Amino acid sequence: MHLVIIGNGITGVTCALAVRRLRPEAQITLVSAESAHHYSRTALMYVYMGHLRPEDIKPYGDWFWTENRLTLVHATATALNTAARLVTLDNGTSLTYDKLLLATGSESRRYGWPGQDLAGVQGLYNLPDLAAMTRDTQGIGRGVVVGGGLIGVELAEMLHSRGIEPVVLVREARYWASVLPPAEARLVDRQFQENHVPVHYNTELREILGDARGRVRAVVTTAGDEITCQWVGLATGVTPNLALARTSAVETDRGVLVDEHLRTSAAHVYAAGDCAQHRRPAAGELPIEQLWYTGRMQGETVAHTICGQPTAYRRGIWFNSAKFFNLEYQTYGLAPAGPVAGLESFYWEHPAGRAALRVYFRAEAPHAVAGFNALGLRLRHAVCAQWIQQQAPVATVMANLGAANFDPEFFPQHEKAVVGAFNRQFPQQAVVLKRGKGLSAKFREVFR
Ligand SMILES: Cc1cc2nc3c(=O)[nH]c(=O)nc-3n(C[C@H](O)[C@H](O)[C@H](O)COP(=O)(O)OP(=O)(O)OC[C@H]3O[C@@H](n4cnc5c(N)ncnc54)[C@H](O)[C@@H]3O)c2cc1C
Repeated sequence: MHLVIIGNGITGVTCALAVRRLRPEAQITLVSAESAHHYSRTALMYVYMGHLRPEDIKPYGDWFWTENRLTLVHATATALNTAARLVTLDNGTSLTYDKLLLATGSESRRYGWPGQDLAGVQGLYNLPDLAAMTRDTQGIGRGVVVGGGLIGVELAEMLHSRGIEPVVLVREARYWASVLPPAEARLVDRQFQENHVPVHYNTELREILGDARGRVRAVVTTAGDEITCQWVGLATGVTPNLALARTSAVETDRGVLVDEHLRTSAAHVYAAGDCAQHRRPAAGELPIEQLWYTGRMQGETVAHTICGQPTAYRRGIWFNSAKFFNLEYQTYGLAPAGPVAGLESFYWEHPAGRAALRVYFRAEAPHAVAGFNALGLRLRHAVCAQWIQQQAPVATVMANLGAANFDPEFFPQHEKAVVGAFNRQFPQQAVVLKRGKGLSAKFREVFR
């Protein structure tokens, strides 16, 4: 079998490694336009900030690919003929395949703003973007970041790390309003304030103004302000990269349409990761998932299907994590930004606003726990997932909160304060906290 994979991101590489494991004799070719070797996209910011060198964000040494008989082709796939099972590359060659995986990822979204093509205006998605940002922010005084999501705060932190003033425009009334409840968003806002990052809420980009040389010199906002700047970062989301799929008969919508086995409409062609759109997502799941870990899970799942072990993709319990300047964030399970019928939540916040915990649970007895938001404190993924899976009553979770504590030694421990607040807010369910990190027998097995 010759498996050709377009894209060497986390999805493509995970699939390649899983197929190598499942079918040692398979011929595997990875094609990537961006880089000869796979790297960790999520770590791009740390290269800019000087915490890591470019070679540090390569999870595998350059020898690894030959050793695992994975052929790397550094080129762009420009056309796909599914009838002939042929992929054309921009280097004048082509590849025939028995199986093809489209793992082409996403591209930054632009909304047709006047001036968006000026020099010094960009998104941050790939290595060329990182190079452009490094070049175009050299010695500048101010950059405007458009977007109130995860990449927006990353761009602000990146600029800040180099002594450049970031000004952030957020369309909504609070940071990441689609995901974070108001209290959690306030904690993130506090990080912006402490780092002297001005954030304009309820404000959108109207226009980008250029100078005589075609470089950005200012932005105009929907509030009518003109903000002088020398660089603009567009962090207004990403959209599946369909350039290759659209040259073929493969059915697409917003993404490449796939069934639960990650099969596309064309025989022997699969799609996974950021570029895939699930025709029938499971209840509570999104049709398009643009996350590192879902890319990894989809890459592993599709490898089984490709190797003749059809496996349905099931994401399982939602989780994600991020960092907003100095504030770590983790979320597990069902953790909506606003009220949802039948769901209640308990919220605790440290008096200094440096940590918070929200626990979501069913309003109906026995008040099964549904999700968590943690800011500035770390929870054990396995424990939270197990509580959600087993529908543990919130009282059980509170009494055993120490079991989920993943903060390093000597870090402040907050369980006593959290449980005290819970008992005050929900006296009818008041609990006694198990001492220290003591676990009930039921949860001790999680650590085995
Ligand atoms: C700055 C940044 C920070 C992020 N941080 C997080 C985070 O903290 N947590 C998280 O869960 N997610 C994060 N994400 C999202 C995460 O990185 C993506 O969901 C994930 O990388 C998608 O993996 P993928 O393999 O599906 O696609 P990609 O990583 O996009 O890889 C696809 C590759 O295919 C190549 N390609 C596309 N078309 C062709 C073609 N025609 N020919 C050849 N090659 C082609 C592309 O150049 C690209 O290299 C972040 C994303 C960015 C941009």
